Amino acid sequence: MKEIIILGSTGSIGKSTLEVVSELRGQFKVVGLSACENTRLLARQVRKFHPKWVAIADKEKGERFKKNFRGSLDGIFLGSEGVRTLAGKKVDLTVIALVGSAGLLPALEAIESGNDIAISNKEVLVIAGKEVMKQAKKQNVKIFPLDSEHCSIFQVIDNQKKKEIRKVILTASGGPFYNCDKNKFSSIKIRDALSHPTWKMGSKITVDCATLMNKGFEVIAAKWFFDLDWDKIDVIIHPQSIVHSLVEFVDGTVFAVLSDTDMKITIKYILTYPNRIKGSFKTIDLSKIGKLTFSRPDEGKFPALKLARLAGRAGGTKPAVLNASNEIAVKAFLEGRISFPQIWKVCGLIMKRYNLNTAQTIPDVLRADEWARMEASSIIEKL
Ligand code: MG
Repeated sequence: MKEIIILGSTGSIGKSTLEVVSELRGQFKVVGLSACENTRLLARQVRKFHPKWVAIADKEKGERFKKNFRGSLDGIFLGSEGVRTLAGKKVDLTVIALVGSAGLLPALEAIESGNDIAISNKEVLVIAGKEVMKQAKKQNVKIFPLDSEHCSIFQVIDNQKKKEIRKVILTASGGPFYNCDKNKFSSIKIRDALSHPTWKMGSKITVDCATLMNKGFEVIAAKWFFDLDWDKIDVIIHPQSIVHSLVEFVDGTVFAVLSDTDMKITIKYILTYPNRIKGSFKTIDLSKIGKLTFSRPDEGKFPALKLARLAGRAGGTKPAVLNASNEIAVKAFLEGRISFPQIWKVCGLIMKRYNLNTAQTIPDVLRADEWARMEASSIIEKL
């Protein structure tokens, strides 16, 4: 039985991963779970899966949880350092399903301990992809993509020759506002931004999908996951979200990966890799779907893609600056403090102000992240 740790077990990917683990009865033993602050759900998960260890990022809630579960677990670790302690435990696979740059240090801990990791938390690769992949190579661990687009590409190019790939094409649903008049962007309501047309996810990533920042981040993550030139990564709008990505080879053959919009399909593939296990999933009926449409993304209307490409190509700590600005701006939007298009405005302003681009060492990335958070907060105050 393989031992697994799930960081972020109370989030959307974490919950789906536990469902898949239950379905794969007897194949995985959940030995560690971490939550940010939803200790009520974490408690239910602990009773069901009996892990050895848990970590809770919110210290106050963690203390209360500790009182209730004292003696029934081998370890309860608190705070962000507690999450890192759990991440450093030696297991067969660590799932990193946290939100934002908070995933970076736990991911590095897991790699350091020689664990294979599955990342849904793409910000880790956005801000420090070069370094993370370097460490993974050094420790001889595998990094699996827990994102429908990257997982599709991974399924196509696994065991193929890299020089035969002409390009990879990430599909984007376009989010809820793709056809919305640009002049109406400033009156977009929070609840509208939170209703994604095809996927059900946490609030941060749902807003990132609506701004297309998520797709921009997926371009950067694809660069590091697959070690591709920037010119070989393309994005196409595909509102039905049935084709999860495409890979074009030099001989003109294009492979597309299609499935229902259910992350459990992706999770199951990664958990049981390199095998395919029968699942209780909905299969797609193309005759019912009728048509699949594709169009070029409008980067003038949705500037996030351009910002992400610029940051990615600049390299160093620029992607960390963009990511941190975006995290702060999205949070401010969700709190009703800024409008929807101001998310791009804040990110663009900070990117312009940042002229200290350095190498992508982890201390540099963390410093840039902290700087951008402070700058973004002060810009938001003045908007
Ligand atoms: Mg995705």
